Amino acid sequence: MRPSGGYDWITLFGRTICLVSFLLVCLSCAGRGISIRPHPGVEALTLPELATSDIIQVQYLGTGGYLIQRGRHGLLTAPLYSNPGVWRVGLGNISPDTALINRVHPRIPGVKIAAVLVGHAHYDHLLDVPYIAAHYTREAIIYGSMSVSRLVIAADPSLKSKVRVLEAELARNRQPGDWIYVADSTIRFMAVESDHGPHFLGIHMMKGEVPPGLKQIPKSAWYWREGRTFAYLIDLLGVDGSIDFRIHYQDATSHYPLGAPPRFASQDTHRLDLAIICVDTWDQVPDYPEALFRNHRPRHVIFGHWENFFRSPLKSPWTRFSSLRLRQFIPSVVDALPADSKWVIPEPGAVYLFRPVQP
Ligand SMILES: [Zn+2]
Repeated sequence: MRPSGGYDWITLFGRTICLVSFLLVCLSCAGRGISIRPHPGVEALTLPELATSDIIQVQYLGTGGYLIQRGRHGLLTAPLYSNPGVWRVGLGNISPDTALINRVHPRIPGVKIAAVLVGHAHYDHLLDVPYIAAHYTREAIIYGSMSVSRLVIAADPSLKSKVRVLEAELARNRQPGDWIYVADSTIRFMAVESDHGPHFLGIHMMKGEVPPGLKQIPKSAWYWREGRTFAYLIDLLGVDGSIDFRIHYQDATSHYPLGAPPRFASQDTHRLDLAIICVDTWDQVPDYPEALFRNHRPRHVIFGHWENFFRSPLKSPWTRFSSLRLRQFIPSVVDALPADSKWVIPEPGAVYLFRPVQP
């Protein structure tokens, strides 16, 4: 089905030009081998340990996907496992690989997932979300933009009551927005107005809003239009409501201060304990993510969305291209981190454990 409204410019010729240009850029970068290897991560905690633990567990699921858990509560940021290949994305049809999702999505019996946070509506952040929501996180609410909502409902109308549009609650212009409390008020989060940098050579693809009235999910990746882009600030709270651990999450590059945490009154001020950063296309946005690091001084950084998401997650994420890109990225950004900050490049599936630090 061809969604209506404003998409006529996306011709087969235009898609082919973009795809060929993209592949040429990749080939020009795919040079010599690698030296950077990831931190191996740690073993995931078992449920009894989790239930009694003060520890915060963060698992990288690949692309923009993370599972954040504490005790019996958790939330997801939008995972992608299907990873359709570059030709299917550029010129063919895409759909969730449900067998693969069933195989690799983490099973977490006893842990209640309260929310699925979606930063924007491109297929690499949303394609698998409706299936996961319908089969694995039935109790969770999917949070995101109007475009996210339209695509999720088109994919599965039974999720209509499970999607919440956050555009009125956004933090904007460094001013706080509304906190959303979930998980028996042990977790809260705030969506922050952000933007989305170009993809390559300054070209920004799949922009604009998904039109209203979408009746079927688009088969072509070109119609998974971006919508508004949000970052999220996520607080894990103590029993007295105090902030134990603060996470900044963004699933796209942004032009600072867009996407950055707002300025808070003193009771809501807290240093970032963890910044989750999108590596992909970092070089298309000046001073990204250094401006965030200089101004918000995260204690820990996870550099995600670095691997080739046109390739099955069952294969090694380490390709020549992704390795070379990391070798360019890391030296250019880590100098902006404070001296006490630790950073990691996670392999999909890696788990990291954090303990709240007393201020
Ligand atoms: Zn995107």
